[in-house]
Amino acid sequence: MVAAAQTPPPRSVGLDPYGQLIRMLLPRAQSISVYGTGGQTFWASDGQDDPDLHNLAQELMAADAATPNDIDGATRRFDGANAYAFVLRDPQGLALAAVTLLARDNGEARPFSLVLGLLRPALECLQRELGMKASLGAMTRDLSTRDRDLELLLDASGEKADTTRDTDELGRLVQAAVDHLNCSIGALIIPERSVAIVRTKADQPRGHEADIITRTHRHLLTWAQLQRRTMIVNKIATSSDKVPPYKILSVPVRHLSHRVIGFLALFNKADGEDFELRQTRLAELLARKVTSILLTNYDASTGLLSRGAFEQQVDALLATRETHAADAVVYLDIDQMHVINENFGMHVGDETIAKVAEVVRRRAPLGALCARISGDRFAIFLAGASAEAATEAAEAIRTSVAELTQQRTEGVLRVSLSAGVAALPANSKHPLSHALATAEIASKAAKDHGRDRVETFDNGDVSMVRRHGEVQIIASLREAIATDRFRLYAQPILPLSVGPAEPRFEILIRMLTETGELLPPAKFLPAAESYQLMPAIDKWVVEHAMMELGAHASVLKGRVARFAINLSGQSVSDPDSAAMIEAALGAAGIPPDIICFELTETAAVTHLERAESFMQRLRNLGCQFALDDFGTGASSLAYLKSLPVSVLKIDGSFVRDAISNARSESMVKAVAQLARAMGITTVAEYVETDELRIRMANLGVDYGQGFAIGKPIPLSDVLADLSLYELVAAGGGDFGTPDVPALAG
Ligand code: C2E
Ligand code: CA
Ligand code: CA
Repeated sequence: MVAAAQTPPPRSVGLDPYGQLIRMLLPRAQSISVYGTGGQTFWASDGQDDPDLHNLAQELMAADAATPNDIDGATRRFDGANAYAFVLRDPQGLALAAVTLLARDNGEARPFSLVLGLLRPALECLQRELGMKASLGAMTRDLSTRDRDLELLLDASGEKADTTRDTDELGRLVQAAVDHLNCSIGALIIPERSVAIVRTKADQPRGHEADIITRTHRHLLTWAQLQRRTMIVNKIATSSDKVPPYKILSVPVRHLSHRVIGFLALFNKADGEDFELRQTRLAELLARKVTSILLTNYDASTGLLSRGAFEQQVDALLATRETHAADAVVYLDIDQMHVINENFGMHVGDETIAKVAEVVRRRAPLGALCARISGDRFAIFLAGASAEAATEAAEAIRTSVAELTQQRTEGVLRVSLSAGVAALPANSKHPLSHALATAEIASKAAKDHGRDRVETFDNGDVSMVRRHGEVQIIASLREAIATDRFRLYAQPILPLSVGPAEPRFEILIRMLTETGELLPPAKFLPAAESYQLMPAIDKWVVEHAMMELGAHASVLKGRVARFAINLSGQSVSDPDSAAMIEAALGAAGIPPDIICFELTETAAVTHLERAESFMQRLRNLGCQFALDDFGTGASSLAYLKSLPVSVLKIDGSFVRDAISNARSESMVKAVAQLARAMGITTVAEYVETDELRIRMANLGVDYGQGFAIGKPIPLSDVLADLSLYELVAAGGGDFGTPDVPALAG
């Protein structure tokens, strides 16, 4: 009945782009508002909201859950205007928010379905955005501004935490609750997530707290699940020794779907203070924070840590170490998952993954951090464990997983896994990713050796090293970096319609093998990424691109061409890279405003804060930024407002799709319009045919890049023919004429 996320988006990321987008799609729209399920106004175009629309939104959102991820709603007439309300739903079919607007169209009302069809691209973007926000724990930010008390509490959870004990956010939260609310004991119990956290006041000796929890937790859980509300016990019958001598405040912890999955309980000694409204309110807010932490930090279908949370927790744990200790990781990969999916169906595949996850959770040694890092792959971090101890743990899990093999009517469902073990390197900047990469190699070796086994990564084991291509690539990559065996290519990006505009080029790297073959990035960048070699490669590209451009510095001054250089996420988060780029620009003596850096959305958004300051610093010099592969990542139009982006590169898969898929087509159009309204230039990637070129031009995209416009050619050739490209770009869409054959590459 009620709705999923009662969370306004954080203030820093406004909803104005969506309002603009809606107006662009339906120019007569007025009084556009976005309402939350708790009655809050997330955004209103006129700065104030209309009570009729507000009521309509609340009424529609209060209805039962509907089709998951759908957008539904209704239309009404309010004094001379047509009101439309759209309810955006989450994957459970619960309301996320409602968008309302008025359209004064001289009496004739347009059918709801027609208006929905018009606005769908904008509403879908917003739906994704809000869905993401809901799961990003935006909740915390809102709640903290509402309640100063809570703000204090959350601060405490970040800083005063006893980090040697609490690398875990949930542990910190329970500790903060105990300290701030001055209780004796706090407990958070969520059986289906294997969460059982008990904390006592920091300055108090730890007594028999576990005892009271063991005696009460079943009762408290049942009560929470049946009653679904807060329980307060301030009166204690001291006569009975069955009842523990504690005052209790217990708050249900809910899943996003509102199902009660556990409880947060606070205990006070019988002679301590009573629990009152203030503590109750704060505890309830904290329980909601727990829900949002669970959402971000845990994989929804297995309950194991998500990859991000896993890395964060391991890093936090390593950071508290004063001296180096042996640690190990285990990488687990379910064997022949595709065979299971094909023979038994995807649902059996999903079930198998969940069962394996359960085994991992149960059999992993106490204190181990277990994560699902992607589809059928898991990782375990074992603090203070030798490679031998980790191998033993992996072996125990392997044996139990093999027992999941069963006879089904369709045939034998064989379940097994290949595990790799690696020790964390002592002197690495990124010990975890290093160890995970080597453990992954060991698990691949386990597969090569016949599956259903555990292998330990051994540097000296030449056979393992040989077997693994990635390792070889890495060796030759390192050598290529040292001996400059790369070549720079450039691909033209040209205006799609008439009108003066500058030609642009994207610089692309190629690797030269010992035999003189040119390797495309797909052959070596993935390996470079897992070995943290991207910053070195980006540095090579930046320095050499600037050098080649610098050789033409006199030609480039006073020209309008721009050159784009790709940067990886690893470089964006590397604090030294901005300085390196500044130095290279200075040495080359070229105007900084002819350089544009391409970042993927994922890179920019995962390191949002660093990316912002990195971009700002280079922008102050005059460089531009492009958001690459737009539409594939954690795509979010609102980020466009907070990041200093001048160019948006619409991902090739989207562009290709636009011919056959009307929804992709309208998305491209909406994005192009929105970008234009924000003063951002758009580029369509993968323009492979003339048909696509024309289509993209008609949809309002500014520039095209792709084989139909020009293939990548050596950067030096581009620089030699620059004036030709300028001529072509100034001619707009006319570049397909036979007198410029050079562009066919
Ligand atoms: P990207 O940034 O999306 O670059 C565009 C890729 O699409 C290039 O592949 C380009 O050759 C290819 N392409 C261009 N037009 C078409 C077309 O019409 N159809 C098809 N199917 N493909 C087209 P490339 O050069 O192989 O680069 C692949 C990826 O490698 C790039 O994707 C980029 O993410 C990365 N990359 C390339 N050079 C560098 C570099 O110098 N530094 C960094 N960090 N990454 C690079
Ligand atoms: Ca790119
Ligand atoms: Ca791209």
